[in-house]
Amino acid sequence: MSLHIAQLHAVEILDSRARPTLAVTLTTADGTRVRAGVPSGASTGSREAVELRDGDQHRYGGQGVTGAVAHVNGEIAEALTGRTFSTFAEVDAALIDLDGTATKSRLGANAIIGVSLAAARAQAAGAGQELWRYLADIGETQPLLPVPHFNVVNGGAHAVNDLDFQEFMIAPLGAPSLSEAVRAGAEAYARLKARLAHEGHPAGLGDEGGFAPDIARPEDVLALLVEAITDAGYTPGRDGVAIALDPAASEFRDAVDGRYRVAGQALTSGQLVDRYEEMIDRFPIWSIEDGLGEDDWEGWARLTERLGSRIQLVGDDLFVTDPAIIAEAIEKKVANASLIKVNQIGTVTETLEAIRVSREAGYAQMVSHRSGETEDAFIADLVVGAGCGQIKSGAPARGERVAKYNRLIEIAAAEPALPYGLSR
Ligand code: PGA
Ligand code: ZN
Repeated sequence: MSLHIAQLHAVEILDSRARPTLAVTLTTADGTRVRAGVPSGASTGSREAVELRDGDQHRYGGQGVTGAVAHVNGEIAEALTGRTFSTFAEVDAALIDLDGTATKSRLGANAIIGVSLAAARAQAAGAGQELWRYLADIGETQPLLPVPHFNVVNGGAHAVNDLDFQEFMIAPLGAPSLSEAVRAGAEAYARLKARLAHEGHPAGLGDEGGFAPDIARPEDVLALLVEAITDAGYTPGRDGVAIALDPAASEFRDAVDGRYRVAGQALTSGQLVDRYEEMIDRFPIWSIEDGLGEDDWEGWARLTERLGSRIQLVGDDLFVTDPAIIAEAIEKKVANASLIKVNQIGTVTETLEAIRVSREAGYAQMVSHRSGETEDAFIADLVVGAGCGQIKSGAPARGERVAKYNRLIEIAAAEPALPYGLSR
């Protein structure tokens, strides 16, 4: 089923953090109209595809995206409308070609991913298929409902508290179905709220909908999580509800001395790994993402050697969804799982390639939202269609976060035969 683009149109809208982003509408020759919203990160990896921001300090503190919008409505629309593409991969190739830079910085990775998401969605619609089914068919993958990872405590760049670690997630690995996993996440979230209040840590919310209590030591948060899981009637651990961390360590690594600043201490890479090992011994942690900084490849190799057989080690800032960097990490035995973010690399085609490279090497894949989001739930279809088995989309609260979980629930309800769980 070919894709004939009749019209492309972008507007500047707001993301969940009151910053501008793009909404792209694509209309095909037969009148089908689809829309895509572009996500945006805060703790970004330095090798990510580059968003185009206006830099005009008089508008949105320089964060405006009118330039990126103009590129979609001008240059990109001129290049793509009236043309027929046999697959959306051809649209992605045309976008990469037109941009001409290695980082998508000329037209803007935000402009490019918006068009790319819309093109994939339009092609699925044209084929009369659900997006997840279409993605599974073109990628020849086995669809799978993923284990959701609910980010229930926020720190780091996503909150104004003293907590250095960015994300504390709960993952209902032992749940028998997607809907039971969502229920476990929501119930534990509610119990955590009650416990935080009870223990004198009333907390607002961070950017991803998790609580942002003023607690500095990660171990103290982990203890609270275990209590909340237990309060909700679940077993802490892989048979019930496990814990996953994203410290986002690049954010608290000192650029000069290379030390990691955690709760007032300055730790070497080796000392931080020791600390993780103690945490794993004490708490039911099954996965750690960005446990070390993106420039600390030696530390990462040691971390993988020490803990890689016990837990999942996910590369996010380290990999930036780049198939070439993931291939290098596989070669160097660094990490054992990839975080997958569509806007980090900038096209759907390259995102699918990052998933494929990871899978072929036995690296697990966790599909991820960004801290700045829209209500677009593309990643829910992506994770199911590509059969990745894991997703993180923030807390089981706030519209832009639950949009993804709710889409998964709807897919599960419509398709009772779809398997649920980790992919390996
Ligand atoms: P970001 O954070 O979207 O702000 O980059 C998410 C993450 O680090 O996983
Ligand atoms: Zn991360």
